[in-house]
Amino acid sequence: MAKKVLKFGGTSVGSIERIINAAKIIKREHEDGNSIIVIVSAMAGKTNELIDQSKAISKNFTRRELDVLLTSGEQVSSALLCGALNEIGVKSKSWMNWQIPIITEGENTNSRIININKEKINKFISDGGVAVIPGFQGVSINGDITSIGRGGSDATAVAVAKIFNADSCEIYTDVDGVYSSDPNKIPVAKKIDKISYEEMLELSSLGAKVMQSSAVQTAMIHDIPLEVKSTFTNRKGTKIFGQENIDYNKVITGVAYSKDEAKITLIGVQDKPGVAAEVFEPISKSQINIDMVIQNVSSDGKTTDLTFTIKREELDKTIDTIKNNKKIKFKELSFKKDVSKISIVGAGMVTTPGVTYKMFRALASENINILAISTSEIKISVIINDIDTLRAVKKLHSIFELD
Ligand code: ADP
Ligand code: ASP
Ligand code: MG
Repeated sequence: MAKKVLKFGGTSVGSIERIINAAKIIKREHEDGNSIIVIVSAMAGKTNELIDQSKAISKNFTRRELDVLLTSGEQVSSALLCGALNEIGVKSKSWMNWQIPIITEGENTNSRIININKEKINKFISDGGVAVIPGFQGVSINGDITSIGRGGSDATAVAVAKIFNADSCEIYTDVDGVYSSDPNKIPVAKKIDKISYEEMLELSSLGAKVMQSSAVQTAMIHDIPLEVKSTFTNRKGTKIFGQENIDYNKVITGVAYSKDEAKITLIGVQDKPGVAAEVFEPISKSQINIDMVIQNVSSDGKTTDLTFTIKREELDKTIDTIKNNKKIKFKELSFKKDVSKISIVGAGMVTTPGVTYKMFRALASENINILAISTSEIKISVIINDIDTLRAVKKLHSIFELD
């Protein structure tokens, strides 16, 4: 008998029919003799709807209250799924974050799970019940309701798999697995049978939302094998595990993109030691993540231009932070809102020369201008104009033989 964690995403529980369908999958797994813990997301669209409602009430809706509001979506789907399971003869029970409890640390809306009390759940599953745990939710040491970031039910599933020492962690979603690019946007994308944690981590942090990046990171650290599969078909999914289990026959495994980027350039910044630190310190203190950074060679030896990218939603806050920073001097600040980031990811890159050149040549042949570049051992990312996004993804997908 195996202990399994089964996670159902928003679309998989997006309607009453779909909840009943998920319950049937769980019933089959349970009847096969497995011990089951289920993690559920809110019904598709619910979390966004609650965010919109909070914005309609106030621009300054506090993060604490936002967590109380947003985590309610998972409460609804947990209870409905338990209802559906009980209806078809599977004994099941749900617990909210604070009842278990799922303890988190860190700020509201972006907390991390640090512990989960196993007692009630272990007792219930060893008595043959199916335990249903809401994804995304937590409770702080002070007793405040918290949430663990968008797409966080994946992270709950991995944390539960780790803490309960599960034999498998299966992520049920609305696609058959992880593809070489988003199959809903790039129809020629191919399903990947096996992918390493490292590549999956790059793909998800670069925009492939099929797995949340912090969930992949936890799985990688603790060597928890994951499987991404469809709630709606019986097709084989994608296995995510350690690199040693994978034979690479392709240089590039996937192409990811994210359309929510922005670029800022400071023109005429003083070119002397410590200036970059003065620019970036207050930005990071405002909890804004800087992504790519480019500093031009100084032509006069006195001043230079500093370009960097951030998430588009943080553009206004970043500009305010720079303007309020009295320690730095520059001639002009310019920014571009409508940019996106395209990335190619592949462990095969390490041993294959010429990948960078091939990528740039391919983009040039499409007349796509590169605004910034960043590389790591297994990925190359470029910033381009938003309008060129899909054209660039399609071109790279075909040039690296992923179609
Ligand atoms: P869930 O609600 O089940 O968590 P998500 O919407 O978070 O599902 O993630 C699944 C979606 O991820 C798919 O519908 C697909 O559009 C998108 N996606 C983006 N990149 C990829 C990729 N490389 N492979 C598969 N799906 C991807
Ligand atoms: N409901 C949350 C969200 O939409 C968590 C999740 O679906 O994983 O972000
Ligand atoms: Mg998701």
